[in-house]
Amino acid sequence: MANLLIIGAGGVGSVVAYKCCEVAKKTGVFEKIFLASRSLDRCREVCARVEAKLGFSIKPYAVDADDVPALCELMRSLEIDVVCNVALPYQDLNIMDACLACGANYIDTANYEPRDVAHFEYKWQWGYADRFRDAGLTALLGSGFDPGVTNVFAAWIMKHELDEARVLDILDCNAGSHGQAFATNFNPEINIREVTARGRYWEHGEWVETDPLSWAMDYDFPDGIGKKKCYLLFHEELESLVLHIKGLIRARFWMTFSESYLNYLHVLENVGMTAIKPVDYKGTPIVPLQFLAAILPKPANLGALTHGKTCIGDRLRGVKDGQPKTVFVYNICDHHKCYEETGAQAVSYTTGVPAMIGTKLVTEGVWRKPGVWNPEQFDPDPFMADLTIYGLPWHAEKWR
Ligand code: NDP
Repeated sequence: MANLLIIGAGGVGSVVAYKCCEVAKKTGVFEKIFLASRSLDRCREVCARVEAKLGFSIKPYAVDADDVPALCELMRSLEIDVVCNVALPYQDLNIMDACLACGANYIDTANYEPRDVAHFEYKWQWGYADRFRDAGLTALLGSGFDPGVTNVFAAWIMKHELDEARVLDILDCNAGSHGQAFATNFNPEINIREVTARGRYWEHGEWVETDPLSWAMDYDFPDGIGKKKCYLLFHEELESLVLHIKGLIRARFWMTFSESYLNYLHVLENVGMTAIKPVDYKGTPIVPLQFLAAILPKPANLGALTHGKTCIGDRLRGVKDGQPKTVFVYNICDHHKCYEETGAQAVSYTTGVPAMIGTKLVTEGVWRKPGVWNPEQFDPDPFMADLTIYGLPWHAEKWR
């Protein structure tokens, strides 16, 4: 039995809190659960909602995770064994430092990026591998849906369906609608930094760059979703998958966007509202994107408004018994069902459930291995089993 600290009480944090309490009641894996974020009010609100629904008590705290000594003080006073970080990518390294100082295992859902450059890669967090190994602690990186489940899907396909991998396409479709003029389903600042960045994919052993959102294709999604336009983006799981899934000659990531979302985004970009360099406003430096994020709808408040489904999966082409074979493993998630269960929409839900599963598996010792790891480096089977048990059932289609 372990004491768990969840950091971040936004859309994803509220689902992690709910799901961790559910699993604690069912299996006893966590003895005490604490939720900390900058805003105490928001933590209190989430804790009260979870307790009213599940009857499991979870305590709220205010902390600025960028203040490592303050975070360590909180973690020591609560005797924390494991931290699930669902704050923002900017906090990753600080929270990893605090885990090393306090002897806690670490799980997150998004890789570190510095605030002043819209650039993410694993080198900073992979650079902690020796320190985590020497401390006997496990850090599990990117245990959301994408990254996270998409890494586990790839590992599962390689374990059970293919002898050799060739071409990987990760497809992320949000066919839901929230009825807002413009909103993002996860943190707006991080979302817009990701979507406006240059595209990148892996081919024949090297990275190929594309202009932002300049490549698109139609894909016919299952379960009545139908044909949607998907845009090529660089996504962080590609960086670890091309290292760990042997034989890949091409790996790409695709995401659907509505025409309206793209129109708004282009206008905002054209007038400078997505810029991350500070501008002077009457003597006060303001980062336009941070100001924009502050006035956009909060992802945590979109639950009641969002309807429709998401479909995210891995389509992996390779070879089995000397013959070509393609496998598509995916999950379908319904926004409204997620809201009825947890109060959150499906993008928060599909991230929060795997964050809980990763935290559970590390805590149980099933996925414990001193060092810093990506999800495809562990046995995918227990994770795949928990996806079905805890609300994200998956399907596999196969073609010869
Ligand atoms: P939200 O903006 O809804 O929530 C972010 C939370 O982090 C807020 O509660 C915020 O607190 C808290 N926070 C920010 N800075 C600090 C800090 N310095 N110290 C403590 N808490 C802080 O974002 P989401 O819930 O949508 O996203 C959370 C994370 O999940 C992001 O990193 C995102 O990239 C990741 N994600 C991963 C996905 C995946 O599939 N792998 C998909 C979607 C999201 P406050 O409100 O008080 O500022």
